[in-house]
Amino acid sequence: MAVDSPLQSRMSSPTTSEKDVKALKFIEEMTRNPDSVQEKVLGEILSRNSDTEYLKRFGLNGSVDRKTFKSKVPVVTYEDLKPEIQRISNGDRSPILSSHPITEFLTSSGTSAGERKLMPTIEEDLDRRQLLYSLLMPVMNLYVPGLDKGKGLYFLFVKSESKTSGGLPARPVLTSYYKSDHFKRRPYDPYNVYTSPNEAILCPDSSQSMYAQMLCGLLMRHDVLRLGAVFASGLLRAISFLQNNWKELARDISTGTLSSRIFDPAIKNRMSKILTKPDQELAEFLTEVCSQENWEGIITKIWPNTKYLDVIVTGAMAQYIPTLEYYSGGLPMACTMYASSESYFGINLKPMCKPSEVSYTIMPNMAYFEFLPHNYDGDGAPEASLEETALVELADVEVGKEYELVITTYAGLCRYRVGDILRVTGFHNSAPQFKFIRRKNVLLSIESDKTDEAELQKAVENASRLFAEQGTRVIEYTSYAETKTIPGHYVIYWELLGRDQTNSLPSDEVMAKCCLEMEESLNSVYRQSRVADKSIGPLEIRVVQNGTFEELMDYAISRGASINQYKVPRCVSFTPIMELLDSRVVSTHFSPSLPHWSPERRR
Ligand code: AMP
Repeated sequence: MAVDSPLQSRMSSPTTSEKDVKALKFIEEMTRNPDSVQEKVLGEILSRNSDTEYLKRFGLNGSVDRKTFKSKVPVVTYEDLKPEIQRISNGDRSPILSSHPITEFLTSSGTSAGERKLMPTIEEDLDRRQLLYSLLMPVMNLYVPGLDKGKGLYFLFVKSESKTSGGLPARPVLTSYYKSDHFKRRPYDPYNVYTSPNEAILCPDSSQSMYAQMLCGLLMRHDVLRLGAVFASGLLRAISFLQNNWKELARDISTGTLSSRIFDPAIKNRMSKILTKPDQELAEFLTEVCSQENWEGIITKIWPNTKYLDVIVTGAMAQYIPTLEYYSGGLPMACTMYASSESYFGINLKPMCKPSEVSYTIMPNMAYFEFLPHNYDGDGAPEASLEETALVELADVEVGKEYELVITTYAGLCRYRVGDILRVTGFHNSAPQFKFIRRKNVLLSIESDKTDEAELQKAVENASRLFAEQGTRVIEYTSYAETKTIPGHYVIYWELLGRDQTNSLPSDEVMAKCCLEMEESLNSVYRQSRVADKSIGPLEIRVVQNGTFEELMDYAISRGASINQYKVPRCVSFTPIMELLDSRVVSTHFSPSLPHWSPERRR
């Protein structure tokens, strides 16, 4: 365990502001003895929730110690808690999970029965999230000086929200945060000045929001010191938006008037104070830079003072690193935090490290954390084999080992399996640091969508019904997340077998319908990304010639796979396999229209 702390020595530097010193001291305090912080957090959660139906059910009888808690309360998944969540969402205000009123549901990008999971949250959780955010800049300032001398161009968006039948708002955690006073009325902080006005961020129409945010970013291009979005996919969408709209943006800049496509009154009003006069020089510069064929390094050309990209490129987002490197001319990418709808978890204490070296330090004050040794129940082994006492405390995890994260939150989730697999890479003081390895059971992901094997299987089954009568069958399939295009899209490889020798295959029209049918079968996060956010492109089916999957097996066996245990991979990304598949494609088909989606949940 490392005892010396680089943060500590830099804290005493005379250039570090008082506010930053306070935040850094807090990090030191939390990480010096995480075990006692964890004990306190669990004690607080259990004592305030002792009268909840959930804790009473397991006979905790007011006990607040870890041993009793671990021996009596089971480790659960969302499916286990669904009846309680359903009751709360239907309007039952009794203390079911939490003694504090549930104020809203955060809609996770994880799904259950095709719909977003609903995570309960309480009013004070906003303070906890705010606290984690307040630690980010003090850490960043240790590595990148002068960030108070300019602005951040962040592409931030709210998403559509709905109400549960019991009247509680159901919306993504960031939408909840941006709409809160914590964000809207944040006090001025020279280290957190954004080019995007609140009115643009809060506009529910993502196209108007993006346009206004991009326009502001262009007008203030020399002020921009850092550029980001929450996830890498979001930043790439912004680049793609610029590719498609730079002419209109340049026209607005050259005339000093706002395009008529912006009709949101709040944005119009605010932009009238930002876009006040024509700037011919800027318009000409943009035209020259953007009309070039080659957009390599476009970010640094337009925003020459950018010191880093602030964007998450760990986990599923790692697939975007090469594209971001291309557009940014190799600017550093800072992954600053690790969070979810259930709880915010931790921060990266070395934000300027390479993406492959990112580790997050879990802040022990955020929730009570336990770690399920990853191979303990074997991936996919029956849940019943899980022995609750086998879970490891935050302070006791071992370097090099992998664990699944299990949390107990102030809002009432108890021993809840988040589904993330983390590997311990080291310690800061006595607090472990984790590399995000992967999300359990996720096969395909373009941005916040997460499609698992069962969902893909169901989608293939539903689509293949469209030609079942004709006697054709899908005999094998696999998939690939194509992210070289913006937006990215799902590619599904199909090997088909016709009824007779001629092996006549479904028509192009039927195959296009199959693409759409697959999309209709995928979960609501996927469909929302397609329809409302437009962050995923039309699904593509590539039909491969007969025998391709056998060749795939031969290839795997030649590389050491066992014939007996060989299973067709349901998702592929390894270049030689992709090349093999692509060289056998006989036809490609795209979804001809958008699948159905509405903000309301399916009952
Ligand atoms: P959501 O359920 O939509 O709130 O998404 C939360 C999930 O996003 C986490 O459980 C992780 O799987 C993933 N995630 C969040 N932050 C990061 C990060 N910094 N790196 C990799 N994956 C992340």
